[in-house]
Amino acid sequence: MPGKRHPSIILYDLPNTITDQEVQEALRTYTEDGENLRTRFKLKGRKPDTSHWVMEAPRQHFLQLKRFRKIAVNWNMFQIKEFFHVKRCQFCQAFSHTRQNCKYTVPNCGICADRHSTSYCRSNFQLCINCEESNRNSGTNHNIRHRATDLSCPCYKKEIKAYKKTRDYL
Ligand SMILES: [Zn+2]
Ligand SMILES: [Zn+2]
Ligand SMILES: [Zn+2]
Repeated sequence: MPGKRHPSIILYDLPNTITDQEVQEALRTYTEDGENLRTRFKLKGRKPDTSHWVMEAPRQHFLQLKRFRKIAVNWNMFQIKEFFHVKRCQFCQAFSHTRQNCKYTVPNCGICADRHSTSYCRSNFQLCINCEESNRNSGTNHNIRHRATDLSCPCYKKEIKAYKKTRDYL
């Protein structure tokens, strides 16, 4: 489909000693015809000296890789998932920008939506600022009792849906 980019996968916690060639070779054993995937970027891993790799995969390869929950690279198993290029600001919790580009000076808590930074939260309840604002401004009727980072947040799901339209899944 012209104008659309390929979907992405993310490989978790690959040791930084692993080379691009080793990853490409490992991925090739899970896909039918071997074509190198494009590495988009790497994120800091959860374990020391590891990185998450985000790679774009043509539809055919993407669908083949998506069937696996873990794949082997150099005889170790690593978690693999679809990666969604959806930005959410860790400062104000809004979508479509990151903390670096945030125009706000006072934070919104990602747990209770109060005006403090998420790491200082002492609240014993959860409130999603995005769903609350959507209900107030757009007349939606979302459940608001969850964290802004919740993967089942209706606003997050809407972002995923919009993102998916920009990729050539079909
Ligand atoms: Zn922001
Ligand atoms: Zn809070
Ligand atoms: Zn929400």
